[in-house]
Amino acid sequence: KAKSNHLGEYVFYNQKMQDSFNERMVIESHLRDAITNQEFSLQYQPQVNLHNGETYGFEALIRWNNPELGFVSPLTFIKVAEDCQLIIPIGEWALRTACVFIKNIHDQGYEGYRVSVNISVVQLMQDAFTSMVLTVLEETGLSPEYLELEITESIIMESLERNISKLQLLREKGIAIALDDFGTGYSSLSYLRQLPITTLKIDKSFIDSFLGRNGDISITSSIISVGHDMGLEVVAEGVELEEQLSLLKELKCDKVQGYFISKPIPSNEVVNWIESQVMGD
Ligand code: C2E
Ligand code: MG
Ligand code: MG
Ligand code: MG
Repeated sequence: KAKSNHLGEYVFYNQKMQDSFNERMVIESHLRDAITNQEFSLQYQPQVNLHNGETYGFEALIRWNNPELGFVSPLTFIKVAEDCQLIIPIGEWALRTACVFIKNIHDQGYEGYRVSVNISVVQLMQDAFTSMVLTVLEETGLSPEYLELEITESIIMESLERNISKLQLLREKGIAIALDDFGTGYSSLSYLRQLPITTLKIDKSFIDSFLGRNGDISITSSIISVGHDMGLEVVAEGVELEEQLSLLKELKCDKVQGYFISKPIPSNEVVNWIESQVMGD
């Protein structure tokens, strides 16, 4: 009995591996034509300054709608795109689209708004990464101070020195660099000091832990102190409730993003959002 049970689990495990392998193959094959077929779009999530309540920018978040697969979450397809290097053209598409978009917002008279774009470590590792970014800025006419790149702590695991010098160069051009999902990865404070970053984004999981019976603000509170000591701005992501917002204000967090402010919105709703904020909504 034990044996067949063991065998059963073994078969099940392999079936699961086979299924996920097949799913990845299917996603990969559809991803190959997704740019050409214009299946990607970007949504924009407002980012608000807690000190004055104003929207200062938007995070660009990619969306993929495939005729056969329907909407596929970036949490699923970005990983596949990274493994097959398709993240390189897809990431460049996202950067260019976001820069064109925010430049257009400025040109409509809404000046000063910034756009944040997520960058995969696979993109960063390309020799041509920095020149790609600078070329996109040149071609779109967006001034570097309006661009922020969001990277994750995984850059620490991959060619650290070379990645740091690329980021350093982009910093010197005036581009902001945020460390995304902070607190979930490999960060040690000594690495943090080496990174040429401007911003820490506290991961949603820490903001979630404010709530409930064992409500805990200690990690968030420490991240904010360390960030400020290092001269960084601190953003909280995934703020869903007023209670979280007011705690973050008390903790002197600089900026917030989350469903409580707004979900990510389609590009054609961004001007309306800005107008509603200016009117003091
Ligand atoms: P991220 O950069 O950490 O983005 C935050 C994610 O949390 C987004 O999910 C956003 O829609 C979601 N979110 C924001 N506020 C709230 C909230 O209050 N509650 C909840 N439950 N969720 C919230 P999304 O758009 O599904 O993106 C997931 C991840 O995919 C992103 O995490 C980012 O790592 C990656 N991603 C998205 N777009 C791109 C892209 O253009 N390039 C790359 N390389 N990665 C991307
Ligand atoms: Mg992000
Ligand atoms: Mg994040
Ligand atoms: Mg996250």
